[in-house]
Amino acid sequence: MNNLRPKHAPLLQFPVRDNCIEIGGMSLTRLAQRVGRTPFYAYDRQKITERVAFLRQHLPDEVHLHYAMKANPMPAVVQHMASLVDGIDVASVGEMRVALDTPMPSGLISFAGPGKGEDELSCAIAAGIVLNMESEQEMERIANLGTCLGIRPKVAVRVNPDFELKSSSMKMGGGPKQFGVDAERVPAMLGRLGKLELDFEGFHIFSGSQNLKIAAIQEAHEKTLQLGISLAQYAPGPVRLLNIGGGFGIPYFPGDEVLDLAGVGENLQRLMPEAKQQLPDVRVVIELGRYLVGESGIYVCRVLERKMSRGQVFLVTDGGLHHHLAASGNFGQVIRKNYPVVVGNKVHGNEREVVSVVGPLCTPLDLLADQMEMAKAEMGDLIVVFQSGAYGLTASPTAFLGHPAPIEVLV
Ligand SMILES: *Cc1c(COP(=O)(O)O)cnc(C)c1O
Repeated sequence: MNNLRPKHAPLLQFPVRDNCIEIGGMSLTRLAQRVGRTPFYAYDRQKITERVAFLRQHLPDEVHLHYAMKANPMPAVVQHMASLVDGIDVASVGEMRVALDTPMPSGLISFAGPGKGEDELSCAIAAGIVLNMESEQEMERIANLGTCLGIRPKVAVRVNPDFELKSSSMKMGGGPKQFGVDAERVPAMLGRLGKLELDFEGFHIFSGSQNLKIAAIQEAHEKTLQLGISLAQYAPGPVRLLNIGGGFGIPYFPGDEVLDLAGVGENLQRLMPEAKQQLPDVRVVIELGRYLVGESGIYVCRVLERKMSRGQVFLVTDGGLHHHLAASGNFGQVIRKNYPVVVGNKVHGNEREVVSVVGPLCTPLDLLADQMEMAKAEMGDLIVVFQSGAYGLTASPTAFLGHPAPIEVLV
């Protein structure tokens, strides 16, 4: 029975030596000493570099790679990423400042998101970054601000496509959405755009996130390129930018399989010639967040207590939901499933047991692992949550209950 239960995809990114995980070429116990206290997030610089190289190997040369930095906005990570990718996508003025501190040219930074404030828009216009417009009203505001500032804003139209990314865990396009302009309204908007003092760059079409299904991604890429081509006939100038989104998923839960990136690449290879022919000036962009950083990061907390309750073992740790909401199952999951979790300094311990890993918060939601099998842990051991390089710290309610925030390191 037991071997029929779905398992986590094998985690091979961090070597194990003397039963202890290594990250950034350092044993986890040594790193914990170096950091000085738990809990902490650690991101592996080399793994991020390798991930970008892996993408470059499989995607067509003409496809540009952008980093959607809301996945992990740690400034050191964004700096490192800026040396590897072709652009950065930001979603707030705070993210924009971090991106502008990197060597990335401002024309290769874009700013998406509904409800951008006038101050945010003004900063972005002055910086010369590309504004992905989410509505017709926003277009008018940007044009007015550009006139006031005496600067021609660079803009792209974010399109809410007339199709959905199938099997995506987070749909961000298709049907009624707060993101982008409904595809059927875009031709009229482009007509108006041509009369305003705006530099038209192109389109941004993002249909969803965390997709592991190759066929769904292939279909979305094909439809997205077709939509971009068909909208181009209404554009006031050549389409120079076509951001076709991303949505590449990573395996988090038992039964999740690794995305077939080669299949994604082959399909794009097939589609690119027509896109280049129809849109000769175009730069096709794929924007990725979690796929670039998610697997390079771990969250580490320490066992404070082993507690028995009616036959079940609870490992009470100093980490929890307030630092890692997603691993607790409360960041968009419908049914709670376990992230991959191990005892980082006793990975293959011969004594094994089924435990629940909990945090210090006074809520039963504060659960990092629910009845998972792992090596027998004692007080002081280090619990590691894998797949934690994206939507970790900044997607968590750190103020809840007033415990100290975790440290972040890039190693
Ligand atoms: C959040 C977001 C992304 C990144 O999504 P991932 O699942 O982390 O790859 C990309 N583009 C847009 C517009 C987003 O809002």
